[in-house]
Amino acid sequence: MGNEKKIIFLGPPGAGKGTQAQKIATILDVPHISTGEILRNAIQAKTELGIKAESYMAKGELVPDSLIRDLIEARLQKDDTQKGWILDGFPRNLEQAEFLAGLLQKLNQSCDYVLYLEVEEDVLVNRMLARGREDDNETTIRNRFKVYREQTAPVINFYQEQNLLYPVNGAQPIEDVTKSLEQIVNG
Ligand code: AMP
Repeated sequence: MGNEKKIIFLGPPGAGKGTQAQKIATILDVPHISTGEILRNAIQAKTELGIKAESYMAKGELVPDSLIRDLIEARLQKDDTQKGWILDGFPRNLEQAEFLAGLLQKLNQSCDYVLYLEVEEDVLVNRMLARGREDDNETTIRNRFKVYREQTAPVINFYQEQNLLYPVNGAQPIEDVTKSLEQIVNG
């Protein structure tokens, strides 16, 4: 094979990362790894991870890196990741980005593309209020943007400096965003 694609999705809350990551994962036939989804499932199942993560998520804060590190390290060693992978929602800060770089080196892997969905913040707040997820109330949303600006935005530069960053206009209709992303990863 030799053409396994390893992809990271970046972008502000509500930019459509989850939707697009799922579509691209289906197109490429690789696992879609969403840390937010894993955490939400853990909360539902009332696992130790879920119990620890719940209060942070309800406030729109990042859960502690230590919880996420273990989760990612275990997930990237499952058999299905031999085909490649898509990370959605990780890394969320520079420490996580550096941790991932070290982990990939250890696993003898490298990321091929960092797909960055660009959408303006005011468009996004409205989208998220319409979505109605449990952590989508207005206070939590505001806090998630603050966390994004302060902690996640620096990750964009981190990958830009490594020439891995591919920005895409996330304000286009959903199908057009998918096409743009597909062109990059299949180009
Ligand atoms: P998401 O579904 O990616 O929007 O994530 C929902 C929430 O899960 C975030 O607001 C965080 O509280 C938590 N979360 C998801 N991924 C991470 C991560 N990589 N680091 C820390 N917290 C995370």
